[in-house]
Amino acid sequence: MPFTPFHMGAALIVKPALTRNFSVITFGIAQVAMDIEPGIGMFTGAEVLHGPTHTILGALVIAYLVMLIAPSICSYLQMKWNKEVIHYNLLWLVQSEAVTKTAVIIGAFFGTLSHVALDSLMHHDIQPLLPFSQGNPLMGLITHDEVYQLCGAAGVLGAIAWVAIKFFRRSPQDAGVSVAPEPMGVDTHKGTFVLWVKELRFTWFWMFVLTVMPSVLYGSSIFSRTVLMAAVVIGIPSVAIARLIAKGTKNGLRRLAVMLLMPLMALTYVSQVDQQIPENATPITIALESFRLETGNYPDTLETLIPKHLAKMPVLRFSIEQPHVTYRVTNGKPYLSLPSAMGDMFAIFEYNFETKVWIQYF
Ligand SMILES: [Zn+2]
Repeated sequence: MPFTPFHMGAALIVKPALTRNFSVITFGIAQVAMDIEPGIGMFTGAEVLHGPTHTILGALVIAYLVMLIAPSICSYLQMKWNKEVIHYNLLWLVQSEAVTKTAVIIGAFFGTLSHVALDSLMHHDIQPLLPFSQGNPLMGLITHDEVYQLCGAAGVLGAIAWVAIKFFRRSPQDAGVSVAPEPMGVDTHKGTFVLWVKELRFTWFWMFVLTVMPSVLYGSSIFSRTVLMAAVVIGIPSVAIARLIAKGTKNGLRRLAVMLLMPLMALTYVSQVDQQIPENATPITIALESFRLETGNYPDTLETLIPKHLAKMPVLRFSIEQPHVTYRVTNGKPYLSLPSAMGDMFAIFEYNFETKVWIQYF
């Protein structure tokens, strides 16, 4: 969106739910950061306005940079805000000046990723899945005007809800000035939740972004493999050394466990889904054979099969991006292959038209 403010609607609608765990200012910084590239492009008359910054990978990089600069800008702006509301004696609107890490992380990542999603609905020049796919599955799902209206309505509703919640919950403590965010606890007895969830929340977050998201959304295994390899090659020795030398960092072992478990689960999931791809493609092979029975030849393209022999292309994998089916006929000999997620770009399933079976090549 060249008109950045509309993106804020997405932030304001979630703010009342996440309260202190979500920094609207960080979200705003993320919007400005995202639109630097299109801004420069408009100035210089570039053909593609939404390039690498408006992809999921670009958004992750920008979110990380935003995360680094946001805390100081947040404290400065909140100090200004607090001065204003105190001046008007609206003490219940005072915000804690120290923004929490969680709030910055959620603000930054939700900010850039929602930006890509919203822009993908509206701009033809966006390829959000690069370099994995040139497609834009979101394009045209709803109209340009509807996006603006929804964002505007979300912004107004969210702002009203936030002010209302602030007002009805007002108390001296809600001023937040005296409340230190995330105090570092003394190492006494901690519950399972604190040990495994709260203290490891950044590990969980990153494991989610790096392993669960790519595998579920794109059926991609390459990130999970990389994380798993890093955990084995770097994680295990460093935890071992730390425990030998310094009697151990307390949560190092737990963090390592998460870093091994999450990619393993993601890889198991991807391989399960992967094994079903040939089966899901069965309608294509059946249609090809029925076409040949009828005409004596295989069709030149798969599109020829639709709609008589094949109602529509089958869904091959549960993911945003569908694997690209390669089909051609050379000298009367058909060739059909599907990419296999377990090898990302490198492995394929090839259909053997004589034996009628799929063979996986790595
Ligand atoms: Zn944009």
